[in-house]
Amino acid sequence: MKNYVTHLECALTGEIKDKNKVHGLSSAGKPMLVRYDLEEIKKDISKEDLKKNVINGFWRYSFLLPVDKKNRVSLGEVKTPLINLDNCINELDFKGKLIVKDEGLLPTASFKARGLCLAVSMAKQLNLKHLAIPTNGNAGAALAAYASKAKIKSTVFCPDDTPEINIREIKSLGADTYLVNGLINECGKLILDGKEEANWFDVSTLKEPYRIEGKKTMGLELAEQFNWELPDVIFYPTGGGTGLIGMWKAFTELLKLGWIQNKLPKMVAVQAEGCAPIYKAWKEGKEFAKLWEGAKTLAAGIRVPIAVGDFLIIRAVNESKGFSITVSDEEILNSRESVSKKDGILLCPEGAATFAAFKKTLNQGLIKKNDTVVLFNCASGLKYPLPEVSKFIDKNSKINYLDFKL
Ligand SMILES: *Cc1c(COP(=O)(O)O)cnc(C)c1O
Repeated sequence: MKNYVTHLECALTGEIKDKNKVHGLSSAGKPMLVRYDLEEIKKDISKEDLKKNVINGFWRYSFLLPVDKKNRVSLGEVKTPLINLDNCINELDFKGKLIVKDEGLLPTASFKARGLCLAVSMAKQLNLKHLAIPTNGNAGAALAAYASKAKIKSTVFCPDDTPEINIREIKSLGADTYLVNGLINECGKLILDGKEEANWFDVSTLKEPYRIEGKKTMGLELAEQFNWELPDVIFYPTGGGTGLIGMWKAFTELLKLGWIQNKLPKMVAVQAEGCAPIYKAWKEGKEFAKLWEGAKTLAAGIRVPIAVGDFLIIRAVNESKGFSITVSDEEILNSRESVSKKDGILLCPEGAATFAAFKKTLNQGLIKKNDTVVLFNCASGLKYPLPEVSKFIDKNSKINYLDFKL
């Protein structure tokens, strides 16, 4: 398989960099994007060729990825399923399709596997020896897993209130794991400050060029699953925004390849009321977002007070004629409960936020009643604290079985 990468490019200034060198942010301090020779890909590969590809997970799109085959680090990436929420919509004033893309089936049970699989594979390709990451949980676990597999050292900094299960998972998967009395951006600052002396490579969201290429595969996979006719609206729980930016990059590349037509989905950036820097900037018509003070939400994955890719998220939302919206923690918990009880899918809180946002949007008339809508569930619901069970049976007492009758 040929490698079609031509160069890397600063997403703000267009500055060009050598694809064979190690890169963090551009000289302007903004994300670097990978560019491909799309004309050459168009000549070499067709949709028909892709149909014959037997690989099920995202490595089937390797022509649009920067990794040479020998450097692929794999833990069994699968194509994630699309699941209809038909029981939920029965009770709503909605005649379209509501579909969850369930990313919880990927290695380490979250979609962070897509990005970190790519970042670690590229670290192997570029011969990096030590990777460091700030995380609210899932990114750290995915880095730890892929780095261990690739025999690369990983160091992980988590806010000390990260869900317990995530922290233990990260350590179990072999990362040198630390709790920090601060938020994810403050964990990120430790990595930046320690760069010279610790000599680690910073794999923070969008501060290296390859996690976004991994997240881009959500867009490629979705397009293929929809037989190259994309849904009308995509709701994405937005923290650092890599997934939203990545999907938008995927659609742009597919357009240039001529594999999809000009009708692209509206991209909806869903944030939590307690941490909504992107929503605020978008609403005020700004290009960049300000640091959100006192960030607080139980949806840890979207508790990101400042994002280096802010302008790319806002740009994608606007170009797609989408919007941003916030939901409260209470709406998140209610949504998680109703989707799991009605349709049998245990969403993660961030995934539940997209359902809550969908319902709000429907009431506000921001989407059409017959739209095809995709919600992203980014992690297995099992990675999060769940409501406790308090009903108890004493096996020695007399049990009234009539109480169980329907
Ligand atoms: C990281 C994460 C998000 C946010 O993803 P971004 O692409 O960084 O915006 C949402 N949900 C979960 C479960 C996550 O782990």
